[in-house]
Amino acid sequence: MNRIPVAEPVLNGNEKKYVDDCIDTGWISGSGKYVTGLEEQFAAYCNARYAIAVFNGTVALHVALLGLKIGAGDEVIVPDLTYIASANTAAYCGATPVLVDIDPYTWTLDIEDVKRKITPRTKAIMPVHIYGHPSEMGPLVALAKEHGIAILEDAAEAHGAEYKGQRVGGIGEVSAFSFFGNKIITSGEGGIITTNDEALMQEIRILKGQGMDPKRRYWFPIIGYNYRMTNVQAAIALAQLERIDWFVQRRLEVAQWYVEELKDSPFTLSPQAEWAKNVYWLYCVLVPEGIDRDRFMVDMDAQNIETRPFFYPMHVLPPYHDSEGDAKFPVSTAIGARGVNLPSSAKITRADVKRIAESMFKSLEMQQAK
Ligand SMILES: *Cc1c(COP(=O)(O)O)cnc(C)c1O
Repeated sequence: MNRIPVAEPVLNGNEKKYVDDCIDTGWISGSGKYVTGLEEQFAAYCNARYAIAVFNGTVALHVALLGLKIGAGDEVIVPDLTYIASANTAAYCGATPVLVDIDPYTWTLDIEDVKRKITPRTKAIMPVHIYGHPSEMGPLVALAKEHGIAILEDAAEAHGAEYKGQRVGGIGEVSAFSFFGNKIITSGEGGIITTNDEALMQEIRILKGQGMDPKRRYWFPIIGYNYRMTNVQAAIALAQLERIDWFVQRRLEVAQWYVEELKDSPFTLSPQAEWAKNVYWLYCVLVPEGIDRDRFMVDMDAQNIETRPFFYPMHVLPPYHDSEGDAKFPVSTAIGARGVNLPSSAKITRADVKRIAESMFKSLEMQQAK
């Protein structure tokens, strides 16, 4: 039987045509009509005023934090369960990522723990819309306002997700998205920042363009970065963006099939808060308690189904290690150990989901029999 991968890009729109156009016209570097087209259309998609395309999602977070003037001595609140780029980018700025536990249902920032971790040094909160489910933005925005701190949404996994009908990427001061090869839409490597704040947009543009003064060529008032997205990347991203409704719709459909197959099973399924539109970047399950997650994944692999473990909680990784972390972050510790990402690409069929579910039941039985 064929192998079913967790993620796989689908590049069957205008990607090739637009890339050919870049090559035919010689516009292959960090500016061009696909870059500006992508920025305009992505901002509109998020109901944000501005978007700034950059080389990948990690530098999108980095330059967004720099734009917020985060630096040495500052603290940035980050969920313990996330991809490492969320924490690393705070560290790149010389700031301290302050880890917070996650909510047991949505797997996003636990608001009560955020409240406990705010100090006079807190400069930003970074809600991560993990695996496509938005963070609970209402209380976070209220809390940030009350304390005069900024919100940077890490929306790398959540293009099109909504909090109470509002698209992510337009809720916090600034947001960062990724177009890595396995994300909802892709440009191979790529990222974009959205914001409604004009001054912040201008600051980020300068930072990502080597720090050059926009009115005076080769005059560099600050230390900047070359984080530009190429026109070739943007050509692919724009072609993908033209079909984003289809990409999101496919993920909702695949999620619905997983629910149909697994709703009466002992697996805990991807969350879906009543205020949320989850876009199911990766469909998730938690294995039942008492089941060895890693063995379950080996047994899935033997049936030619690729799965992925949840991210390791930040507090177990060497750069952010906290020996008391398991007690401080009990929810993220438990969920990180039980979580599995299932195949979720736009290519998945109804028959694939049935086969995956059957393999899951079989893998479960193999452990229970012993
Ligand atoms: C993918 C991802 C990033 C980083 O994006 P890259 O484009 O791979 O640099 C950041 N945060 C989260 C939560 C991600 O999943």
